[in-house]
Amino acid sequence: MNILVINSGSSSIKYRLFDMPSSIQLKKGVIEHIGEKGSSVKDHYSGLKIVLENMGHVDAVGHRVVHGAEKFTHPVLINKKVIKEIKVCSTIAPLHNPANLAGITACSRLLPGIAQVAVFDTAFHQTLPDYAYIYGLPYDYYKKHSIRKFGFHGTSHNYVSQEAAKLLKKPLNKLKIITCHLGNGCSITAVDKGRSIDTSMGFTPLEGLVMGTRCGDTDPALITHIMRKEKLDSDTMDRILNKDSGLKGISGVSNDMRVLELKSRQGNKRARLAINIFIYRIKKYIGAYTAAMSGCDAVVFTGGIGENQKTIRDRICKGIFSLCRKKPRILVIKTNEELMIARQTYNIIGG
Ligand code: ADP
Repeated sequence: MNILVINSGSSSIKYRLFDMPSSIQLKKGVIEHIGEKGSSVKDHYSGLKIVLENMGHVDAVGHRVVHGAEKFTHPVLINKKVIKEIKVCSTIAPLHNPANLAGITACSRLLPGIAQVAVFDTAFHQTLPDYAYIYGLPYDYYKKHSIRKFGFHGTSHNYVSQEAAKLLKKPLNKLKIITCHLGNGCSITAVDKGRSIDTSMGFTPLEGLVMGTRCGDTDPALITHIMRKEKLDSDTMDRILNKDSGLKGISGVSNDMRVLELKSRQGNKRARLAINIFIYRIKKYIGAYTAAMSGCDAVVFTGGIGENQKTIRDRICKGIFSLCRKKPRILVIKTNEELMIARQTYNIIGG
């Protein structure tokens, strides 16, 4: 069965075609610059038309959808009602869900009658207990504006925790795993018996670890303090926290960990500081999640930094498990969110 996986962003469509259940990848590609000035691809419909030109037979389509809020706890077959609900979720994910929907709408027009499934980044974290997802804010905001921790990168954390269980040759429901997705965006999740019980990203992907350009955890009072001091409006502050902070903001050099390691070796003090902060924050989360699960059988590293930068992994792991009775296994697993979407699509359509 051929399953097409679509990751539709604001100006790009990434795609992969898998044969399921063999998981063999048959095709892969990306259409970029959709809707940009001077581009020949004017919208997602035209982009998807190009994708489908040489695709051959497609049995079903799996779409990455960033935000499913509390509505979607699992992947779902897309129908009119689901599309309406994804639109409602757009109010808390205005940058992502509309782009995901553009891909879904284009597919409905170009592949009529073909089953489409939505797989949500947030769904894996819907198992968090309320004491992990409610913030210390007036409870009314949760009721009125859905202010709570949602968590992201769920498809990746789900995939690598399943792969970890295979490597450890143990059932997932017998394991306590900490998964570290360290790319440009970074998040860490406590996976207890296969269920996400806590995760570092929050209402938005800004909370938690120090990332390439995002600040992660900070004193919330600082935001209004800086806005007053620097006379910033909320949009500018938002941009600074998301695009000018993190490794880039601390180092003043780059958001790229490879560049920072090089500069640090050459003696750049702020590059070294940025790396130290990055590592320290991850160590603290691993400690916290080990406590939250009353133990840890394995720590999994994935994402560009997690998969490739051994020096960073070694520094994170150094000394952190001296309190554990049994030392957790350290695993490096290449994430494959597209394959996970293909698997979940295959399961939904009854493969
Ligand atoms: P994204 O979150 O955008 O998918 P990636 O998972 O590609 O990002 O991770 C990018 C980060 O991984 C950068 O900080 C980069 O320096 C680091 N990195 C280290 N080695 C590699 C590599 N071989 N390929 C890609 N990124 C790498």
